Amino acid sequence: MMNIDDIRTQFPILDTEVHGRRLVYLDNAATTQKPQAVIDVLTDYYSHLNANIHRGAHHLAAVATERYETVRRQVQHFIHARSHEEIVFTRGTTESINLVASSFARRFFPGDDEVIVSGMEHHSNIVPWQLAGATLRPIPFSDEGVLDLDAFERLFTPRTRLVAVTHVSNTLGTVNPVDEVVRRAHAHGVPVLVDGAQAVSHLRVDVQAIGCDFYCFSGHKMYAPMGVGVMYGRQEMLEALPPYQGGGEMIEDVTFERTTYNHLPFKFEAGTPSVGDVLGLGCAIDFMESVGVDNIAAHEADLLRYATDRITRLPDVRLYGTSPEKAAVLSFLVGTAHPYDVGTLLDQLGVAVRTGHHCTQPVMDRYGIPGTVRASFAVYNTRDEIDAFIAAIQR
Ligand code: PMP
Repeated sequence: MMNIDDIRTQFPILDTEVHGRRLVYLDNAATTQKPQAVIDVLTDYYSHLNANIHRGAHHLAAVATERYETVRRQVQHFIHARSHEEIVFTRGTTESINLVASSFARRFFPGDDEVIVSGMEHHSNIVPWQLAGATLRPIPFSDEGVLDLDAFERLFTPRTRLVAVTHVSNTLGTVNPVDEVVRRAHAHGVPVLVDGAQAVSHLRVDVQAIGCDFYCFSGHKMYAPMGVGVMYGRQEMLEALPPYQGGGEMIEDVTFERTTYNHLPFKFEAGTPSVGDVLGLGCAIDFMESVGVDNIAAHEADLLRYATDRITRLPDVRLYGTSPEKAAVLSFLVGTAHPYDVGTLLDQLGVAVRTGHHCTQPVMDRYGIPGTVRASFAVYNTRDEIDAFIAAIQR
């Protein structure tokens, strides 16, 4: 069982006062707060360990390299990848998807290329494919926010090169049936990228069980520092792709005539990575595993049920995203009030939420609204905080 008081004391920012009230932080889908242990890892790294990795002969470089590579194996086990060589460190989900889009397009886009995405993608799983020259074919979803898998089937053409879908919608909270999406796409011989930015902190992820070819996520949404993320790719797929960026570390041999590339995963890690942030990611995984991913999921499911039940009793509140499979996100509008006004009023009462289109403009267009107010939950939130949030909306 989780001890919520013990968990909360690990997050120093939760004691912050905002406008004279104790902070109620419900903007976790944008970024989660960090436990003291993760903050300490950064200070400790820069105080005692800072060195560039992989190429130093000296003690600090050796220790930093060893710790960095240990986190790669930790991530491998965390998402159940087959090999640590399938784990590439990036700056975050956005860079992970841009990496795949750029490299995949150079290898597998012969021209006249289509990518199937869901209608609820974050802009970072839309724009990189457009930059790569693809025509996008969006999978529609119901008013509740559930993907239409029959319509999905009809989107495949001989020009379909890839399917790119989010595991959990950052706006609607929908948990998509990504294993079924993969099964159907693979039946058409089409690989699948899953955007896991909103999934990794809420549910147990097993990339082999999902069967996806790529899985991308950010550290900062799972209690780790900003500036680090992961691109998981199936080994055969990564071996087939050309490098993304060129520079140090990703090479085996360089001459002015010709360069050969390093083996996986280094082929995709050009230049100096954010070593301290990677160590922070390892610490965040330790934190999540010490609490238990299933415990986190159960606690957040309770908060979501409680908040949904309370908010639907309020007059004039409309929820967006009511899929039976949902995680940790509550998007809504109040009467005719603009979401930004609601967010500002909640802030005055110490409640931090996000307002706007949440980088999912096509979702807003789907409902014909300018944006929503979004409350999103994490392991340290409590029913008392939901009560404060509901009281603030009532106010
Ligand atoms: N995909 C989804 C579903 C997201 O919620 C986000 C962040 N809001 C991203 C991608 C982009 O993540 P980042 O900004 O950390 O690169």
